[in-house]
Amino acid sequence: MSALSLPWTAEHARRRAERRLRDHVWPEALHSAIERLEHGGHRVLLVGGSVRDVLLGRPADRRWDLAADLPPAAVRERFERTEGIGERHGTVLVLWEGLEIECTTFRREGEYADARRPDQVWFTEDPLEDLARRDLTVNALAFDIGRGELLDPWDGARDLARRTLRAVGEPLDRFREDALRPLRVARFAAVLEMDVEPATRAALGGVRDRAAHLAVERVRDELQKMLGAPKPSVGLEVLREAGLLELWLPELAACRGVPQNRFHAFDVYFHSLYSCDAARPDKADVRWAALLHDIGKPDTRAERAGEGTFHGHEQLGARLADALLQRLRFPSAMRERIVHLVREHMFDYRPEWSDAAVRRFVSRVGVDSVADLFDLRMADALGNGTRGPDTQRLAALARRVDRVLESSTALRVRDLRVSGEDVMRELGVPAGPDVGRVLAGLLEEVIEDPALNTPERLGSRLRVLADERRRP
Ligand code: ATP
Ligand code: MG
Repeated sequence: MSALSLPWTAEHARRRAERRLRDHVWPEALHSAIERLEHGGHRVLLVGGSVRDVLLGRPADRRWDLAADLPPAAVRERFERTEGIGERHGTVLVLWEGLEIECTTFRREGEYADARRPDQVWFTEDPLEDLARRDLTVNALAFDIGRGELLDPWDGARDLARRTLRAVGEPLDRFREDALRPLRVARFAAVLEMDVEPATRAALGGVRDRAAHLAVERVRDELQKMLGAPKPSVGLEVLREAGLLELWLPELAACRGVPQNRFHAFDVYFHSLYSCDAARPDKADVRWAALLHDIGKPDTRAERAGEGTFHGHEQLGARLADALLQRLRFPSAMRERIVHLVREHMFDYRPEWSDAAVRRFVSRVGVDSVADLFDLRMADALGNGTRGPDTQRLAALARRVDRVLESSTALRVRDLRVSGEDVMRELGVPAGPDVGRVLAGLLEEVIEDPALNTPERLGSRLRVLADERRRP
């Protein structure tokens, strides 16, 4: 579409969007849920991301957002399966024929003094009042499915067509009410690939002090969504330019301006962002690892013959990443996977490695992590802006790793053809760390020589060990 054919007047844009929404095929279950809510003459509107994403041609979110002139208790009464996910603020989650529907009472709200939740909400009959308290014009659209009518009091349809994120009303006032909103703006800029309108952008940093007190879970969830964007760098840059990045990711912000060496076109910060962009968006662990893989660099940098070196940055980076992810209250399993990737990302490879060396590598890194580690390393290579020879070497190692994984050699203790019980029986030792150490020793031998992995040969290794232990 050429720029000239863009709908320039807001009313033109609204009508076009309305037609599009009328033509859209909504899930049958959504219709039936709305009918239930409307029963008795109530007003029910589709709002938020559900309207926005259809107009952007994006696949519908798992969750549907509805707004209605019904209080939470009345919503609950109409469905068998509901969860109160913010009932004090009017929101009930309805589970209905495979859909998840967030139904919120039309409301006006006061300030979010604790930067977490509005202190006070007032329910209202007026959907326009409800739309006025939303964060961005593109999120302040409401569609009445039954009447085929689009409410767009803030010209959100025009902003959507222009791909512009604009605060509803006075940006700084809106951000003061809820300091999460600047972070949502940055997230939407990345996820929806939209620009931030200048006055909105200028106000983002104005609530820094309040933003520092946000509930960490809300921040984490936004950052998580941001890292699923086509290019997370877009959102991270919005945050940095607003002076907000250092609030939540100071370790990353500290990488700005840290020069590298001739293998890199960018400083450590931009290299981290572009590596993250280059990682597969469906692999959250790899995206996070790519973003954090070099955060140990600022504190390990040394100059040697005019070049930056960063000895041990992967170990320091792993520690920093661990602390960062704990601070953001990531689930511990995910945190551990990310930290592991950061710690291992510097693995070396030479074509002359023996097969046993490749097996040792896979075993150390872990069978379950090796694919992610390759993805990370590829993203790292793509993010340096110079396209070094690393990708070819990496592909060669990947082929060899595949062969190791396909051949059924033991790479984990559980692949050994002897068990902990065998060790206890043969050596006469009780369950405990000794058993683990013996098994790990056997695994090392099997990785050197896979032919050892038979019950007979490992059994005889155990008997030799038992003899050695009995000798004075
Ligand atoms: P997504 O569901 O894709 O994360 P969304 O825009 O639907 O995006 P929700 O958190 O589901 O976001 O909220 C639904 C709607 O509620 C938003 O579109 C917006 O209109 C409003 N909203 C949500 N959070 C806020 C907020 N912090 N301030 C103002 N309005 C908000
Ligand atoms: Mg939503």
